[in-house]
Amino acid sequence: MSKFELPYAQPISADKKVLYKNARIIDPESGYDKVGQLLTIGDKIFDFGENVSASDAEIIDCKGLVLAPGLIDIQVHFRDPGQSHKEDLNSGSKSAVVGGITTVVCQPNTSPTLDSVLTFDYLRLKSREVAYCNIRAYACITKGMKGEELADMNSLKEAGAVGFTDDGLPVMNANVMRRAFEYSKNLNLVVAQHAEDLNLTNKGCINEGRVSLELGVRGIPNISESVIVERDLAILEAVGGRYHLLHVSTAEALDAIRRAKAKGLNATVEVSPHHFALNDEQVLKSGTNAKMNPPLRSEADRLALIEGLRSGLIDAIATDHAPHDLPSKEKSLEEASFGIVGVESMLPISLNLFHDGVLSLRDLLAKMTCNAAKIINFDGGVIKKGARADLVLIDLNHEWEIQSKDFQSKSKNSPFDGFKVKGRAVRTVVAGKTVYEI
Ligand SMILES: [Zn+2]
Repeated sequence: MSKFELPYAQPISADKKVLYKNARIIDPESGYDKVGQLLTIGDKIFDFGENVSASDAEIIDCKGLVLAPGLIDIQVHFRDPGQSHKEDLNSGSKSAVVGGITTVVCQPNTSPTLDSVLTFDYLRLKSREVAYCNIRAYACITKGMKGEELADMNSLKEAGAVGFTDDGLPVMNANVMRRAFEYSKNLNLVVAQHAEDLNLTNKGCINEGRVSLELGVRGIPNISESVIVERDLAILEAVGGRYHLLHVSTAEALDAIRRAKAKGLNATVEVSPHHFALNDEQVLKSGTNAKMNPPLRSEADRLALIEGLRSGLIDAIATDHAPHDLPSKEKSLEEASFGIVGVESMLPISLNLFHDGVLSLRDLLAKMTCNAAKIINFDGGVIKKGARADLVLIDLNHEWEIQSKDFQSKSKNSPFDGFKVKGRAVRTVVAGKTVYEI
């Protein structure tokens, strides 16, 4: 049986020493990669290196394992407040730490939406009580995610917002997007877009292509994503600010980001594991468990995303963890809800990029640690003296099969059910405390 403990409801004592011995310590930011020891005292990393030792510490033997900064997933939907039958801060974070994730960024499309200081107070207070990992959150760009009036960005930043997005929905109004860039510029926070032109989507449910034709369902064309990205980047170029593209799915949108970066614009992009691991053929196998928004795209798009990861164009990997109960998924493709769970499969699915030689381990881990941290101005995702001890111990060679029925998430909607994978988190540490052990 796996072991779980809450990091903040029962915090580690300030003088408790833990020595992680014989670990391959990898810090993606500095490039440090050596076998040695890492000593934590209380909730902090005290020291690490080949000759670090401590006589009065609890010893954890990490022989053959990788010790890395805890993973940071900058896009999850924990449905809290509002839809706790699908997920809540407790179950979502429990699922996250099984996946080696120590910090998540919740999306604000909850009920009520995260557009007030009060909702951020709720998140902070509740997560201290019930969460297994660090909980951060985006605030809405517009009040109630209605796409009309800007939320109070200043006070939301003070309340803890790490950026702004109406994710779940795009900001369709270009003038609202312009104002969002203008106001957020002084706050130095990203405006993150769910890029989708709703008129072009036109009630489509999966990718527009051979599979949608074969199934006789309405498709979502690639331009639904790319025209919004092109528009946003034009506004960004005109007024300044920081832009982050959530869950990129198409070659065209990625190419727009490439051109923007070449011009020196402040744009970043993340990709979800399902978009680089699967194409729309998966809908034929997994049905509504392969339905998400943006949809799984063509093989050509998938390969463009892999190339974007390899070249460094794509900054981060994030899950878009979107739990749904059975009634929301046991419907026709057209009627089922969009979204899949992802926090427990992110690391093993992403490790395929390392096993297949697409990315070095350092570059892969960077996309789930330090790179992700920079997008949200988070002072984590690194191994250094004095940093908070958020860590993950990874067994790169552990071969296993993903079983969605075993997920700690309240929801089981995953197209990766039954996938054979290699590598997983075997211990997750938040603020110095082991919160999950396999
Ligand atoms: Zn989205």
